[in-house]
Amino acid sequence: MDYDLLIDLYKGTTRQGPGGQPQTMQALQLTDLLNSLHPLKVADIGCGTGASTLVLAAQLNASIVAVDLFQNFLDVLEQDAQRLGLSGKIQILAESMDALSFEAASLDLIWAEGAIYNMGFEKGVTYLKQFLKPKGVLAVSEITWLTKKRPYDLEAHWNAEYPEIAMASEKINVLEEAGYLLKGYFPLPEACWIENYYTPLEQAFQDFLKRHDTQEARDIVDDERAEIALYKKHHAHYSYGFYIAQVANESSL
Ligand code: SAH
Repeated sequence: MDYDLLIDLYKGTTRQGPGGQPQTMQALQLTDLLNSLHPLKVADIGCGTGASTLVLAAQLNASIVAVDLFQNFLDVLEQDAQRLGLSGKIQILAESMDALSFEAASLDLIWAEGAIYNMGFEKGVTYLKQFLKPKGVLAVSEITWLTKKRPYDLEAHWNAEYPEIAMASEKINVLEEAGYLLKGYFPLPEACWIENYYTPLEQAFQDFLKRHDTQEARDIVDDERAEIALYKKHHAHYSYGFYIAQVANESSL
């Protein structure tokens, strides 16, 4: 996989996964951390160019560490943060989400929109818990089945791509087994995929193919187009679910 090509395709888009500002706000409300009187310590993991980071910085009394594996995405975030007067609240950190340098029990809130799949949901939520303070909150979005019955070709596709795809009840169970209690869940609406994510991505294809006249670039675009077609055909059956969970009290375990 040529990461440079993927980064070049994605860094011009406002987000690198399905989501939206009202949905980031909705999840923020479910954390119960808006209006905190003391400054919060927050990490946004797999932040990309920072679609969610900028909302968190605008809404929270917090200092936010924005983590992504790729510096190119973080550079875009830094520029936008400066333009919006939010750079004082955001620190960028190029690091892998499975080898984070945060101190144990140091964070009030960990955010991860459309990114935990890089580690896998179960492994990711289990690993991240050590960095949360007691009663710290995790807000994570993850691909989720919306129906019990699914077409065979769709199941086959996702079981090959990401076998951890599951119903919300199963994801909530994983969170509980990992030592969290659920504070809230909602699925992302279709606009988060089409208007906010796939349409801007489709608009980037033409220039991308002009910049890269290679088979590899054409293969990337073909794969993306296939994913978009699959979503358009089957969107009733899956979306991203947003899960807001809190570290459980020792005594409640
Ligand atoms: N949260 C952003 C980006 C989601 S796409 C949004 O909602 O728009 C997934 C992000 O995870 C990408 O930015 C990708 O660079 C990042 N990523 C992939 N592997 C990673 C890893 N091992 N550690 C940290 N970030 C990673």
